[in-house]
Amino acid sequence: MLAPARHQWLLESSRQFAKVACEAALENRESGQIDPDVWRALHRSGLAMAPFAEAQGGLGLAEPEHQIHLCSILRILGGADLSLARLFEGHLNAISLVARYGTPAQADQLARDVQRGEFAGVWGAEDAIGLKRIQVSGGWQLEGRKVFASGVGLIWRPLITVGAAQGPTLYLLNLAGDESVDVSGWQPLGMRSTASGTVDFTGTIVTADNQIGSPGDYLRQPFFSGGAWRFCAAQLGATERLVELYQDQLLARGRGNDPYQLERLAQCVASVGTASFWVEEAARRFSDESLASKGVVAFANLTRMVTERAALDVMERIQRGIGLNAFIQPHPVERICRDLATYLRQPVPDLAMSDAARAVLDGHLTVGAFP
Ligand SMILES: Cc1cc2nc3c(=O)[nH]c(=O)nc-3n(C[C@H](O)[C@H](O)[C@H](O)COP(=O)(O)OP(=O)(O)OC[C@H]3O[C@@H](n4cnc5c(N)ncnc54)[C@H](O)[C@@H]3O)c2cc1C
Repeated sequence: MLAPARHQWLLESSRQFAKVACEAALENRESGQIDPDVWRALHRSGLAMAPFAEAQGGLGLAEPEHQIHLCSILRILGGADLSLARLFEGHLNAISLVARYGTPAQADQLARDVQRGEFAGVWGAEDAIGLKRIQVSGGWQLEGRKVFASGVGLIWRPLITVGAAQGPTLYLLNLAGDESVDVSGWQPLGMRSTASGTVDFTGTIVTADNQIGSPGDYLRQPFFSGGAWRFCAAQLGATERLVELYQDQLLARGRGNDPYQLERLAQCVASVGTASFWVEEAARRFSDESLASKGVVAFANLTRMVTERAALDVMERIQRGIGLNAFIQPHPVERICRDLATYLRQPVPDLAMSDAARAVLDGHLTVGAFP
C-alpha cells in the first residue's frame, strides 16, 4: 500500500475504533480505568504501532509529514473518549521522544514491546518531593515520586523525567509490577479512566541502557512546548462532539426554531471552527522544520489559549441550551463536560499566554500573519 492509502486506512480504522471506545465510555461509568477490551481494540486498530517508523512496523504517525493526520486522529479519539485520547497522546509522545533522542536499539526494543501489547507514556509531573537520582555503582538510584502519572497499572514502559544538575534526564523503564503505585488519590471530576496516580520510584536503579538522550533534551524546543497542539487537538475533538450532541438535541426536541437556541448554536459552531483553524495551523507549524522555534512555540501557546476559551464557551452555552439533562448521567454531555473541564487544566496556562505575548513583542510572531 502507498503511504497516503495507508494513512487513509488508519483514519478509517481510527473512526471504527472510536465507535467502540465511545460506546465503552458510555457504559463504563466511574470504573476508574479503560476497559481492557478497548485496549485490545486499540491495538487491533493499528493505532498503538502507528507512531513508530515504517521500518519498525509503524506508519510514521509521529513524524513531521504526518502531523495533520495525527491531528485528525486525536480529534476523533477526543470526540469518543477524552481519557483514551490522553493515554494515546502520552503513548505517542513517549515513542516520539525515544525516536528523537534515544538510540536506534532503544527505539527498536520499544517497538517490539508495543508489538507484543505493551503501552508507553510520559510521566513528567512532580509534587514538591520530586524525583532525583543518586549515583551508585553501575548506575543511579532513584529517590522520590511522580504524580498524575496516567495509565498506572496499564503502562509498563513509561518514560520518566528525573531531576539532574544538567537538566531533567529521560529514562525509559520496564516496570516489573512491584513499584509502589497509588491511584486512591485520583478522585477527579472527570478523566477518571486515565488512572493518573502516584508512583514512588525510591530504590529503583537505572543505568545507561535506560537513559534516553542527554540531560535537558526533554526540554528542547520547539518540541517541548510546541507539542501542546496535540492535547489541544484532543480537547477540540471533545468540544466538537459537544456541539454535535447539542445539534442532535435541538432537532430531537423540536427546539431548532427558537432564535436564542439558534444564536447559541451559531456561536458554538464559530468557536469550534476558530479553534480548529488554530489547532491545524499549530500542527502544520510544528511539522515545518524550516520555521524558527520561538515562533512555533508562541503559536502553540496561543493555540492553547484559543482552544481553552472555545471549550469553556461551548460548555457554558450547551449547558444553558440543553438545560438540566446536561447534568444528569448517563447523558453523554454530562460525561464529556466533566472530562473536558478536567483535561483543560494543563501546566502553567498563564505563562503560556504571557510568553506568547512576549514573543509577539519580540518579533517572533507577526500580528496578522496567522492563521
Ligand atoms: C487527565 C490528566 C492526565 C494527566 N496525565 C499526566 C501524565 O501522564 N504525565 C504527566 O507528566 N502529567 C500528567 N498530567 C499532569 C499535567 O502534565 C500537569 O501537571 C497538570 O495538568 C497541571 O495542571 P495544574 O492546573 O496543576 O497546573 P499549574 O501549572 O499548577 O497551574 C495552576 C494555576 O497556577 C498558575 N501557576 C502555575 N505556576 C505558577 C507560579 N509559579 N506562580 C504563580 N502561578 C502559577 C497557572 O497559570 C494556573 O493558573 C495529567 C493531567 C490531567 C488533567
